[in-house]
Amino acid sequence: NRPLADVDPEVADAVGAELRRQQGTLEMIASENFVPQSVLECQGSVLTNKYAEGYPGKRYYGGCEHVDVIEQLAIDRAKALFGAEHANVQPHAGAQANAAVYHALMDPGDTVLGLSLAHGGHLTHGMKLNFSGKLYDVAAYEVEPDSHLIDMDKVAAIARERRPKMILAGWSAYPRHLDFARFREIADEVGAYLFVDMAHFAGLVAAGLHPSPVPYADVVTTTIHKTLGGARGGMILCKEELAKKMNSAVFPGQQGGPLEHVIAGKAVTLKIAGTDAFKERQQRTLAGAKEVAAALKTAGHGVDVLTGGTDVHLALVDLRESELTGQDSEDRLHEIGITVNRNAVPFDHRPPMVTSGLRVGTPALATRGLGVEDFTEIGSIIATALTPEFEARRGELAERVTAIADRYPLYEHLSVPAPA
Ligand code: PLP
Repeated sequence: NRPLADVDPEVADAVGAELRRQQGTLEMIASENFVPQSVLECQGSVLTNKYAEGYPGKRYYGGCEHVDVIEQLAIDRAKALFGAEHANVQPHAGAQANAAVYHALMDPGDTVLGLSLAHGGHLTHGMKLNFSGKLYDVAAYEVEPDSHLIDMDKVAAIARERRPKMILAGWSAYPRHLDFARFREIADEVGAYLFVDMAHFAGLVAAGLHPSPVPYADVVTTTIHKTLGGARGGMILCKEELAKKMNSAVFPGQQGGPLEHVIAGKAVTLKIAGTDAFKERQQRTLAGAKEVAAALKTAGHGVDVLTGGTDVHLALVDLRESELTGQDSEDRLHEIGITVNRNAVPFDHRPPMVTSGLRVGTPALATRGLGVEDFTEIGSIIATALTPEFEARRGELAERVTAIADRYPLYEHLSVPAPA
């Protein structure tokens, strides 16, 4: 029972370095967040030792009386928070939750209609190298070339032509709300299941700041670690009539033993997500994203913002008219201490490893405590960094980033060994 630093100094050093990176930089990857101490405690707990194949009350292993309590809490909280009839909290990640939904509702070769990856969809929505693209017949819808919005009449037209068994609504990079009622109508017209992947915006839904897909969809999946800000993992919500199918698609269909230490973290996350403090944080997340989008929209030099702004926790920077690529821009921001990811924009002429876009998100910094005025400052820093002024001003920009990071200490209670 020696501490990590004694047992494995190489890993301990890297963990410490990662903590210092998170503390000293501004994290703006839209899918990331900072979990609270309570979730860290769950994930580093003895629950990691326990096998618990099956579900609460119906396990294939002995000694599950305590993990049953934890998993049932997570299930009950998920159902209450989102108003869902059934919840499965076992998927190891968002991709596994999605795989289970396909497994439950489709046979290989059946048609799925989802948003194309190049236009903001996720890998699991039918990308050709993913299981979804390999096992199923994929019909994709896209955004419009001018507005960069989804045209629901076109989704309906593709659905009528391709008769999908399942329609998938959800995104990894789309800055506006989806029309869940219209998706439902289309699904009903063609006799398809409606599956909403709310991985990105679930925190906003929980806070009542984004329309909920739950009343419309047959099944909804989410990750717990994006806007929800909790344990890394996935979850499925569905109507009672699909509960058995979903449970058996997760276990034994896709997974073996559930990660009960993570499920405990999910339970805690779902409790926190019902609080007023959580709602206030999601409000700052949204207000901050609007500030950043507004600053980038007026940056000039070919820098633009897709759809002209945002209704969610991220802005999509459009660099198709800029000399800078997504890669150049990501590197510049990294240099001054802001972490983002480059992201292909729709109709991108640059290759996927280079791209013409950036995805900039506010959830992690809102969790860290930043207020709207801090996001205004960050918008100004990023906008300047993406112009030719960068070379002359990089030192000043880096100092402004450090000043913000210093104002909002992170994980101060965590002690890690100083670098060797
Ligand atoms: N669904 C959407 C919309 C996502 O954006 C992501 C992750 O980026 C996932 C699913 C997959 O989640 P995970 O990375 O936990 O497998």
